[in-house]
Amino acid sequence: MSKVENLASIIDRFGPHLHDEPIGGWSAERKVDKMVPTHCPYCGMQCGMNLLVEKNHVVGVEPRYDFPVNEGRLCPKGVTAYLQTHHPDRLEYPLIKQNGNFERASWDEALDLIVAKFKGLQEKYGKDSIAVYSGSSLTTEKTYLVGKFARLGLQTRYIDYNGRLCMASAAGGNNKAFGIDRAANPWSDIPHAEVLIIAGANCAETFPILNGFLWKQRDNGGVWIVIDPRETATARQGDLHLQLKPGTDVAVANGILNVLINENLIDQAFIDSRTNDWEAARAAALNYPPDVASEISGVPAGKIIQAARLYGRAKTGMIMHARGIEHHSNGTENVLSYINIALATGKIGSEGRGYGTITGQGNGQGGREHGQKADQLPGYRSMLNPEHRKYIAEVWGIDESEMPEPGVSAVELFNKMREGEIKGLLSICSNMMVSLPDTNQVRKSLEGLEFNVCIDFFMSESARYADVVLPGTTWSEDEGTTTSGEGRVIKINQAIDPPGEARHDWRALQEIAHRMGRGKYFQFESPREIFDELRVASKGGKADYFGVTYEKIDKQDGVFWPCPTEESTGTPRLFEERFAHDDGKARFHAIEYKGAAEKPDEEYPLIFTSGRIVHQYLSGNQTRRIGFLVQQCPEPFVEMHPETAMRYKINDGERVKVISRRGEGIFPALVVKTIRPDTIFIPYHWGEELAANQITNAALDPTSKIPEFKACAARLEKIHTRELPILGEVRKGTSQNEVQKGK
Ligand code: SF4
Repeated sequence: MSKVENLASIIDRFGPHLHDEPIGGWSAERKVDKMVPTHCPYCGMQCGMNLLVEKNHVVGVEPRYDFPVNEGRLCPKGVTAYLQTHHPDRLEYPLIKQNGNFERASWDEALDLIVAKFKGLQEKYGKDSIAVYSGSSLTTEKTYLVGKFARLGLQTRYIDYNGRLCMASAAGGNNKAFGIDRAANPWSDIPHAEVLIIAGANCAETFPILNGFLWKQRDNGGVWIVIDPRETATARQGDLHLQLKPGTDVAVANGILNVLINENLIDQAFIDSRTNDWEAARAAALNYPPDVASEISGVPAGKIIQAARLYGRAKTGMIMHARGIEHHSNGTENVLSYINIALATGKIGSEGRGYGTITGQGNGQGGREHGQKADQLPGYRSMLNPEHRKYIAEVWGIDESEMPEPGVSAVELFNKMREGEIKGLLSICSNMMVSLPDTNQVRKSLEGLEFNVCIDFFMSESARYADVVLPGTTWSEDEGTTTSGEGRVIKINQAIDPPGEARHDWRALQEIAHRMGRGKYFQFESPREIFDELRVASKGGKADYFGVTYEKIDKQDGVFWPCPTEESTGTPRLFEERFAHDDGKARFHAIEYKGAAEKPDEEYPLIFTSGRIVHQYLSGNQTRRIGFLVQQCPEPFVEMHPETAMRYKINDGERVKVISRRGEGIFPALVVKTIRPDTIFIPYHWGEELAANQITNAALDPTSKIPEFKACAARLEKIHTRELPILGEVRKGTSQNEVQKGK
């Protein structure tokens, strides 16, 4: 059983502790040995940066002026990312848990134990008793290798990854409508759009450098329509804000389409020549006149009409969205309802006309293309397609019959651990105890495992449950590629050697495969060799990387896939002449409003929604250790409208209990007029007692299997505490505890 018995001592030893200074301290006189051009390890903008290196240490960072995406800018996370490299919390040697305590071990001891346990479990319960759970902040080379490692190294069907919690609904919608899953346009198209629809995306905080493109669009006279339940930093800068109830996007999008149809603002020639299935989508939209859409969504009908006219009358326009519309049990349908608008107006496939999703993880795009998804093989091939299986089996040198069948999605994987079907786990680059929904159930899944291995470079909330922790590397210690949110494949360059006994993650996976007796499939000596196999494996697939080389990436500042031949320079803009379905046409979908799986009622009268803030990245395992970032926002808060606060007699800053059917937590109240009175919001980057995901609902979208992070029923409870909020508080496993203790 993988329980956490000594939480306080684990935190004392492994943090998170706060760290603020570069190694050797601050000095303007510093003479660095070299500057290594690379990219930020965090969000899908993948801003260019130079790491400043002195004696095998990263001592500083400069933004890259030569990279066309960020042109000399970095956000607060980006400028401090280098501080994780020599952080005192870094894991520098393998750890084996004994009597509840992590003890230092050699690599041989750790690897021998892993292989003995995995072999033992597989002999007793079958190959599929082991699961692999991966992440999309890894390089594409590693994500490719993880998929191959699970299916060939461990011979298990059970692999999935945390991108399932990120962009799976966008992927589902893109594939259904366009036949391919990639942003349709480069970011550089944004300034050419007269009107932007930004739905469920607070990009000012979550994707800050994108704002450069948005402001250029504004400078060109452009207009922003922002659709979000909160008046976010992005919505405040917009021209029109549609403040909908969480989970009602289909009603708003269908309402807009209804107006476009009735006011003849559609492009019938485009619909006739380049799309299929319009009549069904049209009929569905006609059920949502503005007053009906308004009744469901809470957005005034006048604003829905205004949005439709602004977008419909403009010659150019782009629609962008993020997790706000995607994190729903009908997330794929939400996505498709916005795609219907783009297709109906013909605003796609040329400069300033387009559609795209704003990626969360740094390699959210590349990480979902090459085989670490439960049902997917490299090149965006399907595990269910016999031809696809055959092709990859040939590349891997196995008989097709040896290829495992598809597994299950992330949440289902953890359900199977709880049900006892999965007995062992290897996780890499993932912090499930923060990022999965309904963390009380996730804890039971991890506690029920017979053997649990984690590869990471910091001791995350999830690694605490592991039996063996292997020390991996940060982005500055390895090379490889990632693919940014616009579909640009870029190159991460190694600046320094891994510290202590930490090893490249791909080497750790190969070591395990070798000891499992599967070494002949894992003979890679460098990321380049992995990439070269990936290129062949992707050849002819939807995500075709065959023509992408490290040299071409350097020469062109990145390569947009598909890039099928060595002569090709890539494809920055998709759909100029045809969509990716076999007949070259896009598909409309008739979408009806269903709403969230759990709606408010008498017992739980509020809608709970979660999201991100600018100072933290995803599960916070990296950013909750950087002093500057933590000081900006030491712990999560529950945002509520003054009317809500008055109803519950809650003062600003007072601690309150937030309760759902799944769990509860105590958070300081942040009383603001910028949220709907029926909605409360908590940022999700923290774990343990401060996890927003104690409250969320694990209901899944049937297509994407994304959980419903963005809407569930909840209530508030005044707890009559006299405790001061935030500062001075000591709570186990929280950032503030870490602030107080230091290291
Ligand atoms: S916008 Fe994203 S990629 Fe750019 S510096 Fe910030 S976190 Fe890094």
